Amino acid sequence: MRETINILGVYIDRLTHKEALDKLTGFLTTENTDLVFTPNSEIIQAAYKDEVFKNRLNSASLNTADGIGVVYASKILGKPLAERVAGFDLMCAFMGVCAEKGARVFLFGSKEGVAKEAADELLRRHPSLNICGMRNGYFTDKDNESIVSEMNAANPDVILVCLGAPKQENWIYDHAPKLNAKIMMGCGGSLDVLAGRVERAPEKWQKLGLEWAYRLKKEPKRFWRMTALPKFGLTVLFKGRKFKQESEK
Ligand code: UDP
Repeated sequence: MRETINILGVYIDRLTHKEALDKLTGFLTTENTDLVFTPNSEIIQAAYKDEVFKNRLNSASLNTADGIGVVYASKILGKPLAERVAGFDLMCAFMGVCAEKGARVFLFGSKEGVAKEAADELLRRHPSLNICGMRNGYFTDKDNESIVSEMNAANPDVILVCLGAPKQENWIYDHAPKLNAKIMMGCGGSLDVLAGRVERAPEKWQKLGLEWAYRLKKEPKRFWRMTALPKFGLTVLFKGRKFKQESEK
């Protein structure tokens, strides 16, 4: 049984980074395809407004708290999460496990050429990592069938889907039944970071819970997206308690 917290209808696993990594590692040995999402405040706020999206998030086998806002929300709701489990850090650590275990990894998303640069960086960190395929994230609906075939032909154990939210969660949900992978994980802009095209906030900012502020400073065009953060805070404060906390997944 999973121990979760219900934040505005989205079930977030109450795990540390290490525990989440162990859980992901366990998924490598199961028969089914496990979906892994890393919701932040913006994603949870979107799910609060969109029942279908919320149900899709809740179909995941693991939802980690990617953002300090989610950790604060858990405290407000009286069921504190031990720590933030940033999707990027979890994915990077998991690539080490995949290298050790010989799991095959497919990189999907970002602009043409980025996945290759990200793969080079991953191979620099883990020379034995088996990257069995990659594809950029710009396509239309009619390409989906060939993307699925391309992925299945590469026979991946793990597919990192890096299309940004909510596109990646929806794509994963829609296509998981047709794919043979053991794990499909939504990883947002992670390939851009690995490729060195987007800079992550320095650790000092991350520790202060200010990664969002650093991102806003670097990419002011995110301002409108980030207005979801105060909305999320207010919704948790005023509506959060109506979501039953005894309910566990
Ligand atoms: N992206 C993509 N296809 C799309 C839209 C976006 O592959 O149709 C990629 C984009 O190039 C970027 C990532 O998805 O690499 C989104 O990054 P962002 O930082 O916005 O995602 P977040 O982590 O904030 O969800």
